[in-house]
Amino acid sequence: MKLTFLGAARTVTGSCYLLEANDKKILVDCGMFQGSKSIKQFNERPFAFHPGEIDAMVLTHAHVDHSGLIPRLVKEGFKGRIHCTKSTQQLCTILLPDSAHIQESDAELANRKGLRAGKSQVVPLFTIDDAYISLQYFYVHDFEENFEVVPGITARLHVAGHILGSAVVRLEVEENGKKTTLIFSGDVGQPKQPIIEDPSILEGADFVTTESTYGDRKHKAYDKEAELAKIINDTLERGGNVIIPAFAVGRTQVLLYYFQKLTQEGKIPDVPIYVDSPMATKATGITLASKEEYDAETRALIEFQGDRLFAMKNVHFTATPEESRMINSIDGPKIILSASGMADAGRILHHLKHNLWRPECTVVFAGYQADGTMGRNLIDGAKKVKIMGETIHVAAEIVNMTGFSAHADRDQLLDWYKKMPKKPKIFFVTHGEFSAASALGKELQMQLGTAVYIPKYGDSVVIEGADYRIEAAPEVETMPEVAELQDSISSIEKNYMEYRNKIEQIALRDSSKAEQMRKKLEKVRRYMDDMLGNI
Ligand SMILES: [Zn+2]
Repeated sequence: MKLTFLGAARTVTGSCYLLEANDKKILVDCGMFQGSKSIKQFNERPFAFHPGEIDAMVLTHAHVDHSGLIPRLVKEGFKGRIHCTKSTQQLCTILLPDSAHIQESDAELANRKGLRAGKSQVVPLFTIDDAYISLQYFYVHDFEENFEVVPGITARLHVAGHILGSAVVRLEVEENGKKTTLIFSGDVGQPKQPIIEDPSILEGADFVTTESTYGDRKHKAYDKEAELAKIINDTLERGGNVIIPAFAVGRTQVLLYYFQKLTQEGKIPDVPIYVDSPMATKATGITLASKEEYDAETRALIEFQGDRLFAMKNVHFTATPEESRMINSIDGPKIILSASGMADAGRILHHLKHNLWRPECTVVFAGYQADGTMGRNLIDGAKKVKIMGETIHVAAEIVNMTGFSAHADRDQLLDWYKKMPKKPKIFFVTHGEFSAASALGKELQMQLGTAVYIPKYGDSVVIEGADYRIEAAPEVETMPEVAELQDSISSIEKNYMEYRNKIEQIALRDSSKAEQMRKKLEKVRRYMDDMLGNI
């Protein structure tokens, strides 16, 4: 049997593993690469296998960095079954067509200008049609149900506690009379996350592939509910609105859960709460229809309410763009949840335009903000931002609430793995930047005494029973982490040149100040030279 790492290797996106056994080929995940332009181009590279030769797939969860290339896989000939949980399938019915819509509009935008400039036509990676066609290949399973993926490989899905429907995949492979068990963690949630259950305790396996998104970090421990209540009460007292850019799937429902709890406990008043994102509304609907995944606290919350989750009378879901625009003409303080979570597109832009300039309002970020996004700029203290061609002065309070992460941190992952009665022969550490993967790897080695390997794109492991041999792929310039590093280095170069120019401008007015700064910048450059010389 052979396992090949074809994504999320030393990077956090593009999750994809190819398992070849008994002359069959299966995939675990087929995710999209997300982030900078150079990382996104990996989505266009030919697959490392022929999609028509893949017999089946097991999908850990619906997030696009795990599921996003399924429409392309189907478009290029895949005809097998895609095994997952019911809510993963339901969430994919909204996420995959939405992702296709983005592909189509990006291509359309590129062609509008490109064709006039004599550039060749850009074809979308896949279309909305492709996304819908791919949905017919999904087969749903309950958690903890055993099912056959292909002859000789059975699977079971355990609760991963990351988002609704998210699963840890356990595979049992029987080949040449030998049995091998493999675990793919997918994304693992923090314990005590609202709504869904905590990650299941695993029996263990011969080989474990683990995520390491926060492998080098510990989440700050603090009372999120109290902080959220304080922000809301302070803002409402000032007569302002609370604006929350929130990811449609997962984060919006978690926030609604907290609002429901805080309202029930009398800790926040009954102000109108608007969920202004069609995708968030659909994802909330799926959450409401997935009661079997609720944890004990959520069940208790519903019993208290005597009704259902998110059943507050003050919650409004806005459907049309007109209704969305209407929100800003309604007087009185309110809470507005809208997408995108990084405030770089979508309806949230309207709300920021109408509220950022007002000192009585608060904008709360409750999720990861990537470099270069409006969310990141605001957290970094931007005083002015451009929204839909208009310059907006930032006077509102900007709050960055960490701790809502849907990923376990290093200690939480270690605690979880320590509870497995059977320790694996080796951990393959994936789905994390190299520094995060190495940090987690080191601790796994020390605290669990197991071997660890951090695969790079294309590396394989040949497995026979519980024995294994790693076949490293040749080092190539085309690996995602190399592309990411090249991006970072060019941004350092660009910044360096910008700083030098700024110093020269200052020199025109104040030569001694400029000299001080020149020295400082040179010190940084020499330090970097030394560092690079040591690598
Ligand atoms: Zn995820």
